[in-house]
Amino acid sequence: MSEKVYYIPLSVDEPGDTIEKKIKKLFKRSNLGKCFESRDVVGIKLHIGEEGVITALRPHFIKPLVAILRKSGCHPFLTDTNVLYKGKRNNAVDHILLAHKHGFTIENTGAPFVVADGLIGRNEVEVEINCENYKKVPIAAEAVNASALLVVTHVTGHIACGLGGTIKNLGMGFSSRKGKLHQHANLPPEVLELNCTGCEVCRRWCPSDAIVMRNNIAVIIEEKCISCGECIALCRYDAVSFKWDSTSEILQKRIAEHALGVTKTKKDKIGFVTFMINQTGECDCMPKKMKPILPDIGALAGFDPVAVDKAVLDISQRIHKTDVSRSAFPNVDPTIQLRYGEKIGLGSLDYRLIEVV
Ligand code: SF4
Ligand code: SF4
Repeated sequence: MSEKVYYIPLSVDEPGDTIEKKIKKLFKRSNLGKCFESRDVVGIKLHIGEEGVITALRPHFIKPLVAILRKSGCHPFLTDTNVLYKGKRNNAVDHILLAHKHGFTIENTGAPFVVADGLIGRNEVEVEINCENYKKVPIAAEAVNASALLVVTHVTGHIACGLGGTIKNLGMGFSSRKGKLHQHANLPPEVLELNCTGCEVCRRWCPSDAIVMRNNIAVIIEEKCISCGECIALCRYDAVSFKWDSTSEILQKRIAEHALGVTKTKKDKIGFVTFMINQTGECDCMPKKMKPILPDIGALAGFDPVAVDKAVLDISQRIHKTDVSRSAFPNVDPTIQLRYGEKIGLGSLDYRLIEVV
C-alpha cells in the first residue's frame, strides 16, 4: 500500500495565526498524533539556522507543534546536534545561546532547547543497522533516549547532496560528531588553482586546519580534511569543488544509513513535518544572509522520510517545473539518498499525496 503524504499550501508571508491554523490542521489530518502518547518525552528536531541566516524556520512555525504535543500530555523539547565546523553551533553552550538569540526560547515556543549530542557532540548511542557502509551508526543520545521524535525540516539545496530535506535532517542532523565525521570521511574537495585568488577565506573557516597557502594558492591537506564542504560553500570564486561523481553518491548513502539508525530506535514513534518555504540554494548551516530561489510551496506531513522527500521533489517539479536541488546544483542527483533509502528499508518511493483543504 502506498505511503500517505499530506500537503497544505503555505507561505511565510501569511499572517501568524493563519500559519498556526494550517500547521495544526496538517498535523490533525495526517494523524501524526498517533506517534505520541501522554507522558512521552518528545524530541522536536529542528535547525535553528547558523548565525546570519534569516531564512531558516522561525519559532512561530514550531510553537503550534509544541502546543499540540503539550495538549496531548507529552513533554516536548526542541533539539538538534552540534556541527563540525567553526560557528555558533559547534558546542552546546554556543548552540543554546544562538537558539535563544533566534527566538527559540521557552517563552516563544513553549519548550526548552536541548542539544541532543551533549556539550561537545560526544554523547551518542551505537545503533545496529547492518548496511553496506556501516554495521552500526553513532546516533545522538537524546534522540535515542526520547520516547518519540517529531522531525521538522526546512527544505533547502545542499552543496553535496543536492537536496537538504527530510532524510538529510534526520541522518546528518541526528548523528553525533563521530557520525558526521564518518559520513564525510575520505571525500576531500579539490582546489582549481586558476580560480583561486588567495583570499584565504577558506583557510580561516576550515574546521580542521586542513588548508594552507602556497604561492598565494589554497592547498588542501587531504589527511587533515574531514570533507565538510565549508570551503566550497564559502569560496566566492568557484575555486573549490567536490569530485561530484563519487562524493555525492557516497555521502548520500552514508546519510541514509544514519537516518535508518534513528528510525530503528523509534518504531511507530516518529513523524515528519517538512516545510517548503524560503527555499534557499544552500542550507541553513551557511553563516550568511541568503535569498529563496523558488516561491514558497507549503508544508508536508507523513511517517516516511523517503516518501516525504520524494513528494518534495515531485510537488516542486509540478508547480515550478524545477526543484531546489536541480536549480542550485544541477550536477548533483538528489534522488540517490531516496533510492538508496528505499533499498535499505528507510522508507518507500511509492506514496500517495493528499492535499489538506
Ligand atoms: S576561498 Fe577560494 S579563492 Fe579564497 S583562498 Fe580559498 S580557494 Fe582560493
Ligand atoms: S572540506 Fe574544506 S573546509 Fe572542510 S575540512 Fe576539508 S578543506 Fe577544510
